[in-house]
Amino acid sequence: PATRRWTFADQLGPHFLDAPDQPVLLIESKAVFARRRFHRQKAHLVLSALRHRAAELGDQAHLHQVTTYAEALDRYDEPVSVCAPTTWSSRDYVLRRPGLQVLAARGFVSSQGEFARWAEGRGRRRLLMEDFYRDARRRLGVLMDGAEPLGGTWNLDHENREPAPADGRSPAPEPWWPTEDEIDEQVRADLDRWEADGEVSFVGDDGRRLFPVTREEAITRLHDFLRSRLGAFGPHEDAMLAGERWLAHSLLSPAINLGLLDPLEVVHAAEDTARAAAADGEPLPLNSVEGFVRQVMGWRDYIWHMYWHLGRDFRHANFLRATEPVPGWMAELDGSAVDAACLSDVLDDLRRDGWVHHIPRLMVLGNYALQRGIDPLAMTDWFHRTFVDGYDWVMVANVVGMSQHADGGALATKPYAAGGAYIDRMSDYCGGCPYDPKRRLGDDACPYTAGYWAFLERNRERLAGNQRMRRPLQGLDRLKDLPLVVEQEAARGTSAP
Ligand code: FAD
Ligand code: SF4
Repeated sequence: PATRRWTFADQLGPHFLDAPDQPVLLIESKAVFARRRFHRQKAHLVLSALRHRAAELGDQAHLHQVTTYAEALDRYDEPVSVCAPTTWSSRDYVLRRPGLQVLAARGFVSSQGEFARWAEGRGRRRLLMEDFYRDARRRLGVLMDGAEPLGGTWNLDHENREPAPADGRSPAPEPWWPTEDEIDEQVRADLDRWEADGEVSFVGDDGRRLFPVTREEAITRLHDFLRSRLGAFGPHEDAMLAGERWLAHSLLSPAINLGLLDPLEVVHAAEDTARAAAADGEPLPLNSVEGFVRQVMGWRDYIWHMYWHLGRDFRHANFLRATEPVPGWMAELDGSAVDAACLSDVLDDLRRDGWVHHIPRLMVLGNYALQRGIDPLAMTDWFHRTFVDGYDWVMVANVVGMSQHADGGALATKPYAAGGAYIDRMSDYCGGCPYDPKRRLGDDACPYTAGYWAFLERNRERLAGNQRMRRPLQGLDRLKDLPLVVEQEAARGTSAP
């Protein structure tokens, strides 16, 4: 008979069990919430998902509500097994714990062995996401036409950079939303009580639960996305609209990261939807289908593998020597303290929902922190706590690596720093902003435009060896007012823009 399987709160789907009737151990540890100030809706989501899983399994599962993992594990004389957990610290813990059988990680498309074989491949000098993604597509036969990529090209990203729709409306219909039940009510009551007792403290608003907590809900969200939104996913993937925060994004990251959906099943479902639509004579745009598949089996897996590949010290990387603390208005998600229309709106969304899509994360929040020299580890912690889909493995690589360039370019070849012109092109924010994206000096100088030049000047020497930064750095020498811009931005610092 199968051993009892301990499943962590991000291992809640059936693919973390060896058989549908395998006995399960679930541990709810209040200490996890007490250690950090999470977004209220993130705490709700995780607790609700764990308790829904326990309810769904009935007698098959033991749910222990304890302070530490050890308190629960100490109750078992029988052997217990666990799929390798997703963080360095929890992996250390399970490996140290005597009598616990630790299996390979699940919940990703490629195994760690497959990644290692690819990374050690002949002639591989750089570990590029694009190469990894193509290798995985070939290996698994995803969106392939024999040995060739479907449609003849591997990557249609260049078709996915259209600006925000000019009419200010979302290119996709409203997503499907879950309905709360009595377990959510209980979770809400518990969180209220713990907070009132001073045991935990949260950021962000409480609100109607927006993300799936059961496999059934996750499958409903997946199929709603595939049916009504996948076709529009690609073109406006990078766009932002003030009144339309979901656009055509899938809103699936929390469900996949909780383990409710297996990412390979998501990829297969997207491909099946596309092939069925083509057979019906109503093909979905390939740039949308390929773009979505690349996010799930390319980017998500690559970020996961790089978290392990770059080692446990990766989180401490600080190539640009950024040491500013996270400012109070950002820590509190206080959009009302901020005049800059883009940043204010994104903070408001984050406070209300615990989620914003990729470009506000990278080009509004991350870009601000990068330009202002905020400590990358502090930003990683902030992102981890305030996003409903944030976990250590996904935040370290996305924030330290991709967004803050603290790894000196292991993940992204150049820093994701951009001035207001980028935000103006990709959104409808600037029209309603007291700042002017074209101005770098004066009271109405856009904090992103001025911040961009000040950032380049501050890091001129550190970035000089980067080929892709040559032209932007040359641009610095043409700015006659550069000393004034630098002085102005030093005075602005990280006070709310
Ligand atoms: P879609 O746009 O619909 O994309 C589909 C799926 O692709 C996502 O659900 C996700 O599973 C996957 N995906 C795409 N890009 C990435 C990526 N870079 N890393 C991991 N998965 C990816 N994603 C998280 O899941 N958790 C995080 O904590 C997280 N933090 C981020 C922090 C920063 C600074 C940045 C720049 C990105 C971060 N991302 C994170 C990646 C990405 O922004 C989110 O996965 C995405 O916005 C989630 O919304 P969605 O499900 O609608 O995604
Ligand atoms: Fe953001 Fe600058 Fe545009 Fe204002 S002008 S919305 S601060 S990019």
